[in-house]
Formats: sequence, structure tokens, C-alpha cells
Amino acid sequence: MTGRRVIVTGVPGVGKTTVVTGALKLLEEEGISYKSLNFGTYMFETAVAQGLVRDRDEMRKLPGDAQKRLQQAAARAMAQEEGNLLIDTHASVKTPRGFLAGLPEWVLRELMPDTIILVETDPDQILMRRLSDETRTRDREGSGAIADHQTFNRAIAAAYSMLTGCTIRYITNADHLLDLAVREMADVLR
Ligand code: AMP
Ligand code: MG
Repeated sequence: MTGRRVIVTGVPGVGKTTVVTGALKLLEEEGISYKSLNFGTYMFETAVAQGLVRDRDEMRKLPGDAQKRLQQAAARAMAQEEGNLLIDTHASVKTPRGFLAGLPEWVLRELMPDTIILVETDPDQILMRRLSDETRTRDREGSGAIADHQTFNRAIAAAYSMLTGCTIRYITNADHLLDLAVREMADVLR
């Protein structure tokens, strides 16, 4: 039996994993459980096994066809999972050759989400968060480019809703207001 499928997206450094972790903890206290799946981790495990990369931040620099193959394999694997699923991924990935759709038609056909959440905030805040995260190799870009990426993500999310009939929800993860974002996400998942 399949449960609900919610996809959570947001530009690197917006804090989507942090919001997801908080929301799942809240729901667990109420006896609602979601299996949390990280799209990038599924892709990374295959990419490492194939000797393509050593760091997850190298994947977005791979040739487009390699990224698409990894993407499709990840979607197929995740589609086998049962119960309520929460998939942490990207509406679009910034590659050296332009934006790559994170959820092209062949991925959506596998996953068929009920809702896609876009976690967003002020581009300056994202820039500061990227600068203070030393665990990842984040792209070096200014707040104008981050703003453009968020705008593009809203546009492509509209296309995803046209393909699947899913709802699109924006959640703001502003500085000092993580609790608010966590509660909003929990409300969507309940
Ligand atoms: P993350 O840890 O969420 O930043 O994801 C790590 C990397 O996985 C990203 O930089 C992308 O290269 C890749 N990735 C994650 N989700 C997708 C997706 N839906 N389509 C293509 N690549 C993805
Ligand atoms: Mg993350």
C-alpha cells in the first residue's frame, strides 16, 4: 500500500534538511511516520560504485547524460519504497551547462508526488549559510544568482504540478524562524 509522497526541494544551503528533520520529529511524537529518503544519497551511492565521483558535490559537474542516468536509477529505487515518503531533493540542479531539471517527466512518473514543497528564504541569508557550512563544497555565487535560481525553481515547479496534478507549497525558512518553518512543514505532512 502506498502512502503519501511529499518531495521537499530548495537551493543548496537553504536548510531543507534541517527543516525536514524538525518536522519529522514533531510528527513522530504524534505517531505519524514518514520514511525520509535523500535523492542525492541514492544517486551518490551508484555514482561511487561506478567510480564516477568521490564527493557528492562533484555529481552536478558530471556530463548531463551521466546525471540523468543516476537520476533515473535513484527514482526507480525510491519508487519501490512503501508507506509515507518524504524525498529530499532539488527542483533544479545548477550545472556548468545550465539548470538541470531535478524532477523531469521520467522521474515524476516513478515518484508521482502528492505535494512538492519549496523551502526558500532571502538570498542574502542563503549566501551567509553557505559561507558558514564547511562540510560541503557549495557553489560560489552572489545573492543575485541565488535569487535567480529560486525564481527558476518556482517556474519549474509549476511544470511539475502540470505533469502530476500535485500541489506546490512554498515554505520560508528565515533566520531565527526555523520553528515556524518546521511547524508549517509538519502541517503539510499531517
Ligand atoms: P544534496 O545533498 O541534496 O545537496 O544533493 C547532492 C547532489 O545530488 C546535488 O548537488 C545533485 O548533484 C544531486 N541531486 C540531488 N537530487 C537530484 C535530482 N533530483 N536530480 C539530479 N541531481 C540531484
Ligand atoms: Mg541537504
